[in-house]
Amino acid sequence: MQSGELCKDDIDRFIANIDKNNMGCWLWTGPKTTAGRGGLSVKGKYQYANQISWVVAGKGIPIGRIEVTCQTSRCIHPDHLKDSGAKDVDTSGKVKGRKQAKGKRDKPEKPYPDFPLHEHA
Ligand SMILES: [Zn+2]
Repeated sequence: MQSGELCKDDIDRFIANIDKNNMGCWLWTGPKTTAGRGGLSVKGKYQYANQISWVVAGKGIPIGRIEVTCQTSRCIHPDHLKDSGAKDVDTSGKVKGRKQAKGKRDKPEKPYPDFPLHEHA
């Protein structure tokens, strides 16, 4: 998924399915697969909610599977997620050691302006 594939309507639908709790977590309240993974249909393709969150927050395209780092399995807050495929990537985006990511990895993109990443309501 490229972030450019998400239009404002998609982001609005995404945000509308988030329930923020007092632990700073964003709980996904939207549709789920039979396996229990939340997501939305974007341009006719099913996208996992945590991946949408990752991309919309400006963290770029995940290399591996997105994993939750807080104790809340339904949480999709971008700061509570990690890219399990990014273990060998340092903060500058360079790949350490002999393991090379396929293709060139673009610089992280900017968060979407409509995405309330650090809003504290
Ligand atoms: Zn969380």
